[in-house]
Formats: sequence, C-alpha cells, structure tokens
Amino acid sequence: MPGYRGRFAPTPSGPLHFGSLVTALASYLDARQAKGTWLVRIEDVDPPRCPPGTDTAILRQLEAFGLHWDEEVRYQSTRHEAYQAALEQLAKHGLAYPCSCSRKEWREYAVYPGWCRNGVRHPDRPLAWRLRSDLGERPIVWYDRLFERQCIDPAELGDVVLKRKDGLWAYQLAVVVDDGDQHINQIVRGTDLLDNTPWQCQLQRALSLPQPRYLHLPLIAADNGQKLSKQNLAPALPTDDASVRRLLHEALIILDQTPAPFLKRAPVTEQLTAAIAAWNSDRLQPRMYRALPRSVSLES
Ligand code: GLU
Repeated sequence: MPGYRGRFAPTPSGPLHFGSLVTALASYLDARQAKGTWLVRIEDVDPPRCPPGTDTAILRQLEAFGLHWDEEVRYQSTRHEAYQAALEQLAKHGLAYPCSCSRKEWREYAVYPGWCRNGVRHPDRPLAWRLRSDLGERPIVWYDRLFERQCIDPAELGDVVLKRKDGLWAYQLAVVVDDGDQHINQIVRGTDLLDNTPWQCQLQRALSLPQPRYLHLPLIAADNGQKLSKQNLAPALPTDDASVRRLLHEALIILDQTPAPFLKRAPVTEQLTAAIAAWNSDRLQPRMYRALPRSVSLES
C-alpha cells in the first residue's frame, strides 16, 4: 500500500490568514503523525487574481510556523500540457464539451442548463469547456472523515467549467489532475470545498484516477459571523516569533486538540512535536463553522 501523501494547496491571491493556518496545520499534523509525505502546491491558475510575490510570502509564512514540506513546491501555472491532455481525454469520451453561453443568458436558472451539450450554440464566440455532470455515476457517494456519509448528485450542481473562455484553467480540473499526478491519497481542507467534491470524484472516475480520502474541516467565522477569508480582508498571519507561538497554540485549540496550556509560549518545534504525537482527528466536531475565540487577536 502506498504511504500517506497529503498536501496543502493555497491559491496565492493573498497571504495566509488564521483560517488558512488552521487548514495547513491540520493537514500537516495528519500527514506527519501518519509518517507520511506532505506537499505544498501553489494553485496559481488565475494569474490576474494572484499578485506577484504572494507565493513566496505564503511559503515564508508556512516556514515561520514550522510547517516544512517535502519535495519541490509545485506551481499549477507550469502544468498547462497536463490539464490540456486531461481535457482532451474527457472530450474524447463525451464527458466535456465546449460552451459559448454567457452567465447573463442563463441568469434565470440556478445552474447552467446545459444548452451547448449537444452542439455549441454560437460557435463564433469564445468557448469555455464544461463537464457533463449528468453522465457517469450518480449520485456520488463518499465518506468524509468528519462529515461521514455524503451523497450528492453532481447534475444538481450543474456542468462546472473546466477551462474558461479566456483560456485559463479552472480549479476543478487542475486540482484533480494534480492530486492524481502527485499521488495524493489524503485531502484535508476547508468545508467550503465539501460541495465541490462530487465534481472532483466524477472527474477522478472519468480520468481513471483513484479517489483520495477526504477530511473537510470547519471554517473559522470572524466576530461578524462571516468566514475568515481573503475576500473579507482577514489579516495576514504575522511571522514574528511571539505571535507565531501564540497563534499556533490557538490554532491547535480551534482544531479541538487541547494542547497543554504550558506550551502556549513554547517554541514552534516544541509545540509541533507535541501536537504531532497527540493529533487525533476524531476530536474534531462536525460543524460547518467554528467561531473565532475572543482570545485570538489577529494583530501581531
Ligand atoms: N486552492 C484552494 C483554496 O485555496 C484549495 C484547494 C484544495 O484544497 O482542494 O481554496
């Protein structure tokens, strides 16, 4: 049996915030306790959304928190040929199709109604590529390590875009191709991606890739009840030593790992060694959101 292979796959649209630290930490601890391999993949498929230098800032933040990765960091911006080959394979089997429709045209529908499935409506327009979510196994049933049995019909979610009209690759295809190519067999990430999983399982099956195990983590909600995210301008993680020690301890508490209080100001390596030994994903509570405790000040 191949060993544990996990990854943290940030989109470099902004530096990491406390919510992304919690995700990175859980995926790191899960891999390290299993004596597995832990990779970092920079998901920079959308260059206009990724300010230059953000990838390096993210890597420096991970290092400051002691989250050292194995193997070379992969950049999705270098993977065009692999994504193109996968798209061609899907198209050959009738599982992907070109689409000329604009969002405006189908705005009255909850999901894209599939008008171009049997032929492009306006071949003279720029074309996106979409997945035939109505073909293949349905519904998709899988077991999340935290949220347990999931059963979702991808057709209800619609024919997701795999390649955009502007030629950029979409997350759904890129993530599946790279997880497959990097032999990732354990995925730990936020619950905001739970309902993306059926498309990804469908793509894995269509591309004859094995399905990894999934653990979706509760998202962190800020005081105003909104999820901490770059869009909400959650502050970037500080990297000074005192803040790093404090926030690492808080991240372990958020993950229901009850770290010993005396470790609160301990150096990062000491906190991580204890956390790897004590890591128990069964302690996580299956909730979609977790409130940010008042004790967590995100300022340095
Ligand atoms: N790149 C995605 C994000 O930053 C995460 C992808 C994944 O873990 O599947 O939200």
